[in-house]
Amino acid sequence: MRNIIVGAGLTGAVLANLIAIVLKEKVLIIDKRDTIAGNIYDEKDSQTGIIVHKYGPHIFHTNNEKVWAFLSKYTEWYDFSFMPNAYINGKFVNIPFNINTIYQLFPSEKAQKLEEKLIREYGYDASIPLLEMLKNPDNDISFISNYIYEYMFKNYTIKQWGFDPKEIDKSITARVPIRISKDNRYFTDKYQGIPLNGYTKMVENILNHPNITIKLNTDFKFVSGHYDRIFYTGSIDEYFDYKYGELPYRSLEFDVREIDKEYYQKSAMTNYPNDYDFTRIVEHKHFLNTKSDKTIITMEYPKQFVLNKNERFYPIAKPENQELYDKYMKEANKIKGLYFIGRLGAYKYLNMDQAVENVFEFFENRIKGELINA
Ligand code: FAD
Ligand code: UDP
Repeated sequence: MRNIIVGAGLTGAVLANLIAIVLKEKVLIIDKRDTIAGNIYDEKDSQTGIIVHKYGPHIFHTNNEKVWAFLSKYTEWYDFSFMPNAYINGKFVNIPFNINTIYQLFPSEKAQKLEEKLIREYGYDASIPLLEMLKNPDNDISFISNYIYEYMFKNYTIKQWGFDPKEIDKSITARVPIRISKDNRYFTDKYQGIPLNGYTKMVENILNHPNITIKLNTDFKFVSGHYDRIFYTGSIDEYFDYKYGELPYRSLEFDVREIDKEYYQKSAMTNYPNDYDFTRIVEHKHFLNTKSDKTIITMEYPKQFVLNKNERFYPIAKPENQELYDKYMKEANKIKGLYFIGRLGAYKYLNMDQAVENVFEFFENRIKGELINA
């Protein structure tokens, strides 16, 4: 079998690994970039030793034992709990919005009343998506949910997506629910961490097998020859030369700066919902607790994706976009041996663990299934 994987990101790498080790077949993996690892690419700054996440902050988190066990074969982990902040009304507060945030923003008597009401209404330790909480007619709950909407979500979401939170799929804002507890962690998954030697090294280890050949600086557009199986982790509209139109994406511009002081901010990420044009500032040395006199930060500016100008980072969850994707998939399904997978290929807002989980499912159900039925 001649196998080609288009895209050497996490999806492509895990798939190549399974083809090489489980099927014992040879596979060529290509990427148009000059690096492996796709959007989880990171690199060590030679002066400070700080590993910089080139395409936005990446924190691995999962409840999936199988995914954790698989990746743990290829990396050791730095035990990192992500506890970011947001700058709201002149104060640096905890996010996800939780009971601690309430005490940071309101006088203690008011905060206590809100805390009691939230616990009575939802129970301690509940996680409530903002759009759910906004439906609650109770005066106090309505006060706090509207406050969170106004100061934490509205302007951030308009910057990030170009839409109000109520105009995008509710799963997007539900990624950061309101916590009725004092847990400041962004993620509550059982397994969390940062690869001790970086994500790129982890992907390099996943791809390190004699059956796998890697070719970088290679766009599929310019690849010739016959392949029995094409696994495409790029965007499906590009594969079909945009015959039905372009799938929209959100892009980002990264402003990376070296700062001549030990620390710039308290945590790895500070969100700025209402101030400045960027959404957040990431300080990379926090991820692995790297010691250095200097620090490196990245300011993240959301942008519209424009073909041949910038990169695709976020699929935009809207029904009309899904319809366009489905139209392309109908074409794809007619072609034997052509598969679309990954955050771009599936046009889904996948976290890293979901991307790996999808490869496992795809490999078991589609590839091994097809072999059994052949
Ligand atoms: P990608 O990494 O996008 O890889 C696709 C690859 O295909 C790219 O390298 C691209 O160059 C290549 N390609 C495309 N078209 C072609 C072509 N025609 N020819 C050759 N090559 C091609 N997940 C988490 O779990 N935790 C986080 O904290 C987190 N933070 C994130 C922050 C940001 C800003 C972003 C954008 C994503 C974040 N993610 C996070 C999600 C994570 O990045 C993805 O789950 C993961 O990168 C998906 O990997 P992939 O291989 O499917 O896609
Ligand atoms: N969000 C927000 N304010 C915040 C953090 C998140 O409005 O301070 C909303 C915003 O719409 C964002 C979504 O919640 O796109 C998901 O946030 P997450 O931090 O998961 O985004 P990612 O890291 O994937 O860019």
